[in-house]
Amino acid sequence: MELEELKRKLVETGRRLVERGLVAGSAGNLSLRVPGKELVLISPSRVPYESLRPEEVSVVNLRGELLEGRTPSVETRMHLAVYGARPEVGAVIHTHPVCASALAAVGLGIPPFLEEVVVLFGGEVEVAEYAPPGSEELARNALRALGRKNAVLLSNHGALCCGRDLDHALEVSETLERVSRSYVLSLLLGGPRYLPEEAVKLQRRLFEALG
Ligand SMILES: [Zn+2]
Repeated sequence: MELEELKRKLVETGRRLVERGLVAGSAGNLSLRVPGKELVLISPSRVPYESLRPEEVSVVNLRGELLEGRTPSVETRMHLAVYGARPEVGAVIHTHPVCASALAAVGLGIPPFLEEVVVLFGGEVEVAEYAPPGSEELARNALRALGRKNAVLLSNHGALCCGRDLDHALEVSETLERVSRSYVLSLLLGGPRYLPEEAVKLQRRLFEALG
């Protein structure tokens, strides 16, 4: 895909995040790794998704230096930390969704109580220790709690998801909020029953096979 096409894809996906209620205004941020190049496209800082134009999308190298577009998101470090540690990751999305953020606020991770938790996220979604937005420490904490999985909650803040490309990262982000809603409801109904150990193992193999 051409750079211009990838920029358009990022803009469209940003609008989807707003439509789905995963972010509001210019909050949150999303990025993708340009295939075959040491470049990352990332949403710029403080531009509402509805008015973001493809030519404003920030193009940075893996050191975070701006090459094209507007000032990159304040969370660029967190995105680059994921690309640096996970060569198979092609896109990263950071959102502020209601239910996942509520779990992040009380410090509750999401255990394997539905199949998606294992098949799509790779297992229990952990809560990264608190650090100020945009800090090097937040990038480190998020990466540590993410591990080899596709989703992590950020204490008192929101969520971070990744995937092999932008569509996959979007699917993970949407599912994380849906699963968070189910988890909050099951807690209110007396607490979920967890998946049997054997099922978790089987789904974990599926997660690894899907990449
Ligand atoms: Zn944020």
